[in-house]
Amino acid sequence: MFKLVPNFSLRHNNSFGIDVTANYWVTISTLRDLDEAFTKYPHLSGETKMIIGGGSNLLFLSDFDGVVLSPDFIGYEITYQDDQVIEIEVGAGVEWDDFVAYCVEHGWYGVENLSLIPGKVGAAPVQNIGAYGVEIEQVIVCVKGLNLETGEIGSYTQEQCCFSYRSSIFKEKMLNRFMVISVVFRLQKMGELVSAYGDLSGMLKELDEPSLKNARDAVIKIRRSKLPDPKILGNAGSFFRNPILSAREAASLAEFLPGLPLYPTSGKEVKVAAGFLIDHAGWKGRKVGRAAVHDRQALVLVNLGGATGAEILELSMAIQQDVFEKFGVVLEREVQVVE
Ligand SMILES: Cc1cc2nc3c(=O)[nH]c(=O)nc-3n(C[C@H](O)[C@H](O)[C@H](O)COP(=O)(O)OP(=O)(O)OC[C@H]3O[C@@H](n4cnc5c(N)ncnc54)[C@H](O)[C@@H]3O)c2cc1C
Repeated sequence: MFKLVPNFSLRHNNSFGIDVTANYWVTISTLRDLDEAFTKYPHLSGETKMIIGGGSNLLFLSDFDGVVLSPDFIGYEITYQDDQVIEIEVGAGVEWDDFVAYCVEHGWYGVENLSLIPGKVGAAPVQNIGAYGVEIEQVIVCVKGLNLETGEIGSYTQEQCCFSYRSSIFKEKMLNRFMVISVVFRLQKMGELVSAYGDLSGMLKELDEPSLKNARDAVIKIRRSKLPDPKILGNAGSFFRNPILSAREAASLAEFLPGLPLYPTSGKEVKVAAGFLIDHAGWKGRKVGRAAVHDRQALVLVNLGGATGAEILELSMAIQQDVFEKFGVVLEREVQVVE
């Protein structure tokens, strides 16, 4: 059974807590629900559509003049397993961290470093979520869903998803055109922890034989110590992507900025820590009206209470300009702006 609410407040459905509305909010748990909603309310077809999960990667600038679809497909189904691997299909509406906890409980390796990332499973492939040296593309077999323009049900193989750093076909060409219904993951039964990354490496080295649960607990501990809880302080995690520079550009920047964290990519380029640049440009903890740069993590912009999306965007643009003027580096947004 679908649920339709007209003139819906999105305040509790975006982690910045921006106070905007949508013409309609429609929750669906099956494809039949979607058919029924559009049959019963045919005028919905003429509305602009957007798909929302947990709203933890969005910045609304104004009321949304259209219909927001909230896919609530839930459930897990094992589709294949042998001694080494397990493949599991997970509904788009499952909370991402519930899925991670489920994998860790069952002893399946692959997603433990992505513990505590807010949001739903359906959104995870959209920006190819990543943390502590792991990206979701490494464990995805395929993404199943509905093309909202043609009405066709289809599946994107891992290659067809065109994953890149914090992006995919679903964040670009197919944005709000392909509704993810489920994602099939391949996890390892005899895996190894990915523990080379920063603080995580330090915490796991202290243990003799760290387990999957140790890795999840360590990631949770680190994240809680660094990142503000959106329920208390509105935010959407990293506002900017870490810029990717040529090895030469990165080396000359590091000479100018000793201590700049550099992360090699699979190619010849180098990812540099955007938070370090923002911090060294003097923005950490700075408040501009009701928006601010978080005082422990310069990559995170926060809503101090009652900020509009425009105020947060304005702050982000001032940072981008300043970082460019000081270091010649272009910062790109990771968060999606909804106009
Ligand atoms: C405190 C905090 C920490 C964070 N840390 C990280 C991190 O470490 N790594 C990281 O990568 N991200 C991080 N994020 C960002 C965010 O949690 C992820 O991008 C997450 O995957 C977004 O999920 P969501 O369900 O909230 O998606 P939403 O914000 O609702 O949507 C994001 C995008 O996905 C689309 N979408 C959502 N569901 C579907 C669907 N079923 N079908 C098609 N399109 C869909 C939306 O249209 C939108 O374009 C963090 C955010 C916060 C607030």
